[in-house]
Amino acid sequence: MDNDTLGSLFDLLPDAAVVIDSLGVLHAANATASELYGWTLEEWKGRNLLELIHPDDIEWAAASLGTVVDKDVGTAIELRLRARDGWRLVEVLGTPFEEHGEQRILLSARDLTGRRGWEVAGDDTELFRALMQNSASLTLLIDAAGIVTAASGALIRMTGRGPEQVLNRPLTEAVIPGDRDSLSDALQTLRAGDQRQITIEVVLNGAGRPAVPCQFSIVDLVDDPTVGGFVVSGHDISELRRARIELEHLAGHDALTALPNRARLVEELDRRLNSSDRRTTTLVAFIDLDRFKPVNDLYGHDIGDELLVSVALRLRNAVRGDDLVARFGGDEFVIVADMKNHDAPDVLAQRLHAALTPHFELSIGDVHLSASVGVVICDPSRDVETVLAEADAAMYAQKYNRRPSVQDRAVGARRELAERLTTALEAGEFVVHYQPIVALDSGAWVGLEALARWQHPERGLLRPDQFLDIIENTGQIGRLDTVVLAIVAHDMQCLRQATGATPGVAVNATAAEITHPDYPSLVAETLREGGIEADRFTVELSEREMLERTNRHGSTIPTSLAALADAGIHIAVDDFGTGYSSLTHLVTLPIDTIKIDRSFVAGVVHDPQRRSVIAALAGMAKNTNMTVIAEGIEQAQQIPVVRNLGCNLAQGFHFARPMPYDAIEIGYRTEAELREAITL
Ligand code: C2E
Ligand code: MG
Ligand code: MG
Repeated sequence: MDNDTLGSLFDLLPDAAVVIDSLGVLHAANATASELYGWTLEEWKGRNLLELIHPDDIEWAAASLGTVVDKDVGTAIELRLRARDGWRLVEVLGTPFEEHGEQRILLSARDLTGRRGWEVAGDDTELFRALMQNSASLTLLIDAAGIVTAASGALIRMTGRGPEQVLNRPLTEAVIPGDRDSLSDALQTLRAGDQRQITIEVVLNGAGRPAVPCQFSIVDLVDDPTVGGFVVSGHDISELRRARIELEHLAGHDALTALPNRARLVEELDRRLNSSDRRTTTLVAFIDLDRFKPVNDLYGHDIGDELLVSVALRLRNAVRGDDLVARFGGDEFVIVADMKNHDAPDVLAQRLHAALTPHFELSIGDVHLSASVGVVICDPSRDVETVLAEADAAMYAQKYNRRPSVQDRAVGARRELAERLTTALEAGEFVVHYQPIVALDSGAWVGLEALARWQHPERGLLRPDQFLDIIENTGQIGRLDTVVLAIVAHDMQCLRQATGATPGVAVNATAAEITHPDYPSLVAETLREGGIEADRFTVELSEREMLERTNRHGSTIPTSLAALADAGIHIAVDDFGTGYSSLTHLVTLPIDTIKIDRSFVAGVVHDPQRRSVIAALAGMAKNTNMTVIAEGIEQAQQIPVVRNLGCNLAQGFHFARPMPYDAIEIGYRTEAELREAITL
């Protein structure tokens, strides 16, 4: 057989055939080989076949080649050969022969790649398809270039995309744009051969459905002739992600209000303090609820929680979306805000106050709150702790020293009262009793002090010490005062119609009420309806309230008192002697009556020290045209003592107890006496 014949036979062989020498160098390849493997004849020639054999198969191939050379017999072996487009599995049979005295080996190779694929399909096709189509996890096959060559049924279920939208397209197109780079990088890492498997998280693009977060495990089987690419198995991690997000959220958020917690706040503040953006000024507001504890104690934690959730919502709505509202702990909240959202610290403080002012509609009824707010401008040179301490101090400065609530007493009974309060205010269960104020020299009634009473349907008549702090703590004192003023207006009008004149009348108020913007108009209304002259009307404010409020920075008490005084209304310092105020401080306020507290008056007969204090007070009052009223006169022997000390007027059980309206007329025995009283 000549070379040409050999050549043409060689080319006619149905199998791929190559000729190598004993060292493996390639000398010839037939057309089928070139076609199958994609190498041209020139590319075959001179190369060592071992270069084209899969590294894992070389040892075996070399051993087999040795056997062929040594023993002249060959056995068919399977090995992976590198084709231009990837690896192919071939069955190779070697036959030695001589050419020009040189030993040659004819290798004929049958390609098994396709047959293997067919075998798999042929043996298990139903099972295989069923597995592929019904498995919950996604299986994709991509070639070395990243093109999807096969996809399991999970893809449609997960993304709504049919095979035609995915097959023969790059896998990167199946994921959201933001994840494409990381997917390409993963494939690149696998191609570089550093790793055989990579796990990454991507989000699959959904066709008209929500995107599906997926974990892809990509295995490099490019070298596996059966696969010749990457196998991607993916599973839906929506639940996992949700749980993870929730965990992250929990770690940084308060479970009750869902606001960021203290840890998140510190992080955020730290971020803003260290931000390179020096153009933004950050405000930090510290908020402490003034009446939360009593509500919590009276109504229980569920209601306390309800209130905190509502407060959180109000605060959140009071600021901009990019401001941070955090629950600092308990009833304390901190807001980190951008100055440009609020113009000035004061504006933010007012906004927060205003947000918490309207009553809260809770399941047990309406609750009123007030809060102390401190706002500071964040100094970027400070650390988080210092900034928070400054804001806290600013808040503290705003908070006046509140009267201790008596919540520890008979909580159950008080809670019941508290629950009924709103109804009681609406149902007219509050009434007013009047205690006469008498002239010490004549014993004549010169005026009346209006004192609130609660006519409770089951418990009978309740005095202020049984309900006043509950009303205060639930923020409804304003409503009580409104009710009292309306009754006073009505009663005084009746009294005027019955007797032809109106006595002086005094009402009690709290600092919160007096400083309320609506208070002056409420009083004006009372005077008008009751036909009361302004200078026959007195507003009493306890010394303690007056002091606590006037000492506070930014208090509006002096302004509010001045407004009332300007309207011609009298102002009395009630319960004087319990607040340890300095007289010099009081004279700066437009006060024209001092009511010496009952506890002070009680010891006056036996205690010379008290006598000298009252004497000094009465002396000063005389010099500044103030009236001094001795409260709580119970015994006749107290009368000459306080009168001699310089007190003009008195109140007390000795003269008359607080009485309902009906009893007043009887008190004013004659019209002449009444007229005399009014002119005093
Ligand atoms: P207050 O303004 O100092 O009223 C005087 C209190 O002393 C009244 O108690 C009165 O009943 C009581 N009292 C008068 N004379 C004597 C006496 O000789 N001996 C004794 N032991 N007590 C005497 P009440 O009515 O229980 O009122 C207590 C406090 O509740 C009042 O003290 C006032 O601060 C406050 N209050 C009463 N009504 C109202 C109201 O309508 N609004 C506000 N905000 N507070 C009110
Ligand atoms: Mg009073
Ligand atoms: Mg008093």
